[in-house]
Amino acid sequence: STQEKTPQICVVGSGPAGFYTAQHLLKHPQAHVDIYEKQPVPFGLVRFGVAPDHPEVKNVINTFTQTAHSGRCAFWGNVEVGRDVTVPELQEAYHAVVLSYGAEDHRALEIPGEELPGVCSARAFVGWYNGLPENQELEPDLSCDTAVILGQGNVALDVARILLTPPEHLEELREMIQLPGARPILDPVDFLGLQDKIKEVPRPRKRLTELLLRTATEKPGPAEAARQASASRAWGLRFFRSPQQVLPSPDGRRAAGVRLAVTRLEGVDEATRAVPTGDMEDLPCGLVLSSIGYKSRPVDPSVPFDSKLGVIPNVEGRVMDVPGLYCSGWVKRGPTGVIATTMTDSFLTGQMLLQDLKAGLLPSGPRPGYAAIQALLSSRGVRPVSFSDWEKLDAEEVARGQGTGKPREKLVDPQEMLRLLGH
Ligand code: FAD
Repeated sequence: STQEKTPQICVVGSGPAGFYTAQHLLKHPQAHVDIYEKQPVPFGLVRFGVAPDHPEVKNVINTFTQTAHSGRCAFWGNVEVGRDVTVPELQEAYHAVVLSYGAEDHRALEIPGEELPGVCSARAFVGWYNGLPENQELEPDLSCDTAVILGQGNVALDVARILLTPPEHLEELREMIQLPGARPILDPVDFLGLQDKIKEVPRPRKRLTELLLRTATEKPGPAEAARQASASRAWGLRFFRSPQQVLPSPDGRRAAGVRLAVTRLEGVDEATRAVPTGDMEDLPCGLVLSSIGYKSRPVDPSVPFDSKLGVIPNVEGRVMDVPGLYCSGWVKRGPTGVIATTMTDSFLTGQMLLQDLKAGLLPSGPRPGYAAIQALLSSRGVRPVSFSDWEKLDAEEVARGQGTGKPREKLVDPQEMLRLLGH
């Protein structure tokens, strides 16, 4: 059938999920894959999330670029699905549609004071230091001497490291303990009893826990003690604390601290819960960054969405009850896991789609693919950015960075990008 000869498939989102899904789909010898992206530039969180001091992580861009250079793959940036074109319109034009649009929102703390100036989400802060256009106006107040980060995940550590770092090469927790000019503050009480439990912890976590335990409880050697004594910056991890309220400044106009409920563990194994002891602790600060997770948004009313879990309900990437619609990446699994996790789950979605294609489960007959969408976009005044357009912007960024010894100076204004392309 025609669908088996030249399947027209589109992918929404050009982060790791979009590109890895496309890479797998292109294993089909005739499939054509269009990738739609709302930003004028590709690669999602690899460009706008991964910290600037992790350049090696960004090497995946080379693989994505190879995929984009395939004669059967096209990138269309500057197209927001749900606004410029709807999912049903894509379903009309293609044999199958894969939603890989990530998690563009953040989980709210839902505590009083959260709306005060001086409080922002780690998502917005990361977007700001990584040149994400929508966050360029953030203006975080970095004049204060204390920042509180709520949450202790990878993103929280990225943010802490960036706040503490002179522009040098550093990596996560291990490097933070050695961070030049910075000293760790860990309360040994938080680590009581951990020594006995450590044996049961899975390996990578075990090594990290041992490192924390040593840092918190062992006296540093003379060299490290001298280094810590001369450090002008400090960072700490506080455990058994649950944020209750952002405290306002006396005039009520800014954040001036965070009220934390002290907690303790109750119950055993799976049933262990942190419960409040009744004690409170106030932590003065000038900047509050909430880093308790990203969250996906629904993209189009026609697509099922589980707003509680923040994902598109699916079975192995097949969107529930909607034949021909698939999903991959953070919008499929929720906003956890590294690029490698996203790769595995995207390959799986690609595999399911190709299986369905082979089994004749996708619409038969030819589909117009991009030709139909291009006509729609053009009638709506939307001008897509192609991959070769992106390569021009890339060259411009690299050239602008050269003077200052940076790998690139990012363009952050979409209007300027479109102007440079003559759009
Ligand atoms: P995304 O990368 O978010 O891609 C989604 C894409 O869809 C985006 O380009 C977005 O613009 C686009 N999009 C959204 N809505 C629409 C729409 N309506 N229409 C069209 N396009 C749309 N992993 C590592 O392995 N190493 C790291 O060092 C690392 N650091 C990280 C740091 C941070 C701050 C964060 C948040 C994550 C980090 N990760 C890291 C995890 C990694 O970034 C994710 O696993 C991965 O990016 C998820 O891929 P995705 O394609 O699902 O989502």
